[in-house]
Amino acid sequence: MIGTLFLFLLLALYLAYLKFAKKEGARGDAQAAYEWEERSAMPRVIAEGRLLLSEEYFRTEVPRRLGARFDQVFLGADGLVYPVDTKRRKKRQIHRYDQVELSVQGAVLRHGRIAVVNGQAVAPFGFIRLMVDGSLEYRRVPLLGDDELAHLHDRYYDLHAGKVEANGPDRAGACAKCAYLQSCPTGRERLGM
Ligand code: SF4
Repeated sequence: MIGTLFLFLLLALYLAYLKFAKKEGARGDAQAAYEWEERSAMPRVIAEGRLLLSEEYFRTEVPRRLGARFDQVFLGADGLVYPVDTKRRKKRQIHRYDQVELSVQGAVLRHGRIAVVNGQAVAPFGFIRLMVDGSLEYRRVPLLGDDELAHLHDRYYDLHAGKVEANGPDRAGACAKCAYLQSCPTGRERLGM
């Protein structure tokens, strides 16, 4: 009798183990499928590279005082360092300010004394990881150099101080959503205010 009970107990434990293993297997398959999909969408240079940073913040004082929160930074298969910034959008498009944001990350990587970067050269372009309606693509974006970033930085403060006027965006509609509209003569003129 005790022997039969023992056998039942063993059988129950075995069935519970099979159920657990099946569940874990399914979870592993889903994770593997996700990683495969992510890697296959990546440009080869970073897919075959190594992740250096994820979700970290660093600063630099060169070419101006700048800070950047990195989504991901890779050491590419070519030995160069690549910033990758994720954008979730309704439309499949990237903007000038995406390029500026990615370029600031490039400057922080070049000058920020980040231990894991370890003096490796930064690539002349980075990637926007663009997610639209659940589909993923990587767009290559040229990085602005130090002189261009310094110029943009200085111009930003000059605009705030009222020393220069804004050029205005390509679409006047952008002015309607701009936080600086009330103090911006160019934007107000564009919108006929
Ligand atoms: S309101 Fe002025 S600062 Fe804002 S987008 Fe328009 S022109 Fe540029």
